[in-house]
Amino acid sequence: MRQPASRNGPRRNRATVEMEPRVDSGIKEESRMKFLSRTLEVRTERGPQFVDITDDVENAARECGLYNGFAVVFSKHTTAAIRINEAEPHLIADMEQMLENVVPAGHEYAHNKYAHAFSTNGERPNGHSHCQQLLLGASESVPIVEGHLAFGPWQRLFLVELDHGRDREVVVHLIGE
Ligand code: ZN
Repeated sequence: MRQPASRNGPRRNRATVEMEPRVDSGIKEESRMKFLSRTLEVRTERGPQFVDITDDVENAARECGLYNGFAVVFSKHTTAAIRINEAEPHLIADMEQMLENVVPAGHEYAHNKYAHAFSTNGERPNGHSHCQQLLLGASESVPIVEGHLAFGPWQRLFLVELDHGRDREVVVHLIGE
């Protein structure tokens, strides 16, 4: 059962967990390490767009049945990012505006002028999308603690579309025991 979100929240009074030092006996024990890789297919509608993929990642983690470990969530694209933040609609509008302020779509980009001018794959000029993605990043990793992704109460995981709407692939790689 899902624990209340606040158990990982900032208000929780945490006890320090002492880790037992592991003694190497020289006897090779059977590995209980588990792995699961899932590719999420996400259809985006526009850029910028924050697509909440938290539930999909939680489903994959549940399916893997990890007690302790972590999930790496990775965008296979150079113009779509993975970020953790809050799913508050006004904040999302603020963050979209921030991306436009920092790396405006209307600026001149050498990528548009030279790479896209001769490209035959139908891609639109997207120098700003690549530069915005560089600032945000391609992946996040989330700890899995006692069977749950250790999100704080306001944290959600987003695929951030920075180009136009299209089909995207996000790899969720889970490792642990
Ligand atoms: Zn491009």
